[in-house]
Amino acid sequence: MDYVIVGGGVAGMVAAINLARRGKRITILERNNKLGKKLLLTGNSRCNFWNQNISLDCYHTSNQELFSKFLNNNQNLVLDFIKSIGVIPKNINGYYYPYTNQAVTVLNALIITLKNLQVNVVLDCLVEQIEKKDKFLIYTNKGIYKSNKIVIATGGLSYPKTGSDGKGYKFVKGFNHNINKVLPSLCKLYGDYNFKDLKGVRVDTILTLYENNKKIKEEIGELLFLDDGISGICTFNLSGIVSRGLNLKKQEIIYLNFLPFINKDKVIKFLNEQEKLLPNYTLRDILEGFLNYKIVNLIFKLLKLKDNIKWSNAPQDKVKDLLVSFPFIPNRTSSLEDSQVVTGGVPIEEINLDTMESRKIKDLYLVGEILDVDGICGGYNLGFAIMSGLRVGGR
Ligand SMILES: Cc1cc2nc3c(=O)[nH]c(=O)nc-3n(C[C@H](O)[C@H](O)[C@H](O)COP(=O)(O)OP(=O)(O)OC[C@H]3O[C@@H](n4cnc5c(N)ncnc54)[C@H](O)[C@@H]3O)c2cc1C
Repeated sequence: MDYVIVGGGVAGMVAAINLARRGKRITILERNNKLGKKLLLTGNSRCNFWNQNISLDCYHTSNQELFSKFLNNNQNLVLDFIKSIGVIPKNINGYYYPYTNQAVTVLNALIITLKNLQVNVVLDCLVEQIEKKDKFLIYTNKGIYKSNKIVIATGGLSYPKTGSDGKGYKFVKGFNHNINKVLPSLCKLYGDYNFKDLKGVRVDTILTLYENNKKIKEEIGELLFLDDGISGICTFNLSGIVSRGLNLKKQEIIYLNFLPFINKDKVIKFLNEQEKLLPNYTLRDILEGFLNYKIVNLIFKLLKLKDNIKWSNAPQDKVKDLLVSFPFIPNRTSSLEDSQVVTGGVPIEEINLDTMESRKIKDLYLVGEILDVDGICGGYNLGFAIMSGLRVGGR
């Protein structure tokens, strides 16, 4: 074999197709009984594989400068590749999905392409150890494989039930690579709250994250309340920063603004106007005209307000603060089992990003989530897995 690819997720399959199209003989070793188990779960099984709006801000990585070059050089490759395997993309508000809205369409196209290119796929094949002598020796439950070059595409540590249980980190550590702390990202955030009455409530919000009292990032979108935490895409998009911050013992606060449709400074004026317009309404009646009644209940409970209080008699600044700057202090994230990706991994400085070859070990290549690159929601992670797979061996 010219290359053995360890791991048959998106990054491994794309690397295999890319190399086989250049005439290389490829074997994929995949521990599961089928390829692309995680791919099938993506985008609620619709597979949001890429995005029209690509910028450095959508990613976290160990070296933004190197990654910026990588993005510039490779962002045009993703759609062409998807089309080249016969999948017609659909652009929904900038988010790319397969036209069928089914992840299985992408997986089947990858599998057909691998078959047509005569890539040897070995399933139920758990790689246990890798050594480099004159060739790479790959020890598995199905015997020892030998190869001139090897691609590690074992993913990270998120959703380990799909196969990515972190073994890949052990392999690359054995080749002297460093691993930046691996933590959950695109995940729920929890704190010391009792939101039981709010559980399941979805509300449009602006979330503003402060780290050690410094404003870091703002996200607009739908927030979902949990028993003692928050979820939803806007939460997920802050979770990587919070995860890393908590690990470094930084103080994290997210201010929830429940009135995204109005300028914060105009809230008091707005409520004055509502009271004028609706003179018989209590504060509760007014608030329930634009806010879920369960959130109104929470505000009343926290401020110990009487049910029939009028806005003009209420502690206006306190009400306003809870409406537009409700402090949520996260003190933990969901587990790795429950996070969509990990943040952390092999620093990209240790890889030649033109070829994905290790700078430590010749003929060793790393692709996909094992590297310290993670994106926000919106197709950026699959996009990176695809770009890195297409880069193996150079272009
Ligand atoms: C629920 C969910 C939804 C998501 N939705 C999206 C989305 O809509 N858009 C998006 O961009 N990203 C999404 N992601 C993230 C995206 O799926 C990952 O970033 C991407 O799949 C990473 O690809 P990969 O090939 O690097 O790793 P993986 O997909 O994890 O593949 C690694 C493969 O290696 C195999 N393997 C590991 N160790 C061994 C071993 N020792 N021997 C043999 N085989 C091994 C595993 O079995 C696995 O098949 C989602 C993730 C989850 C969990």
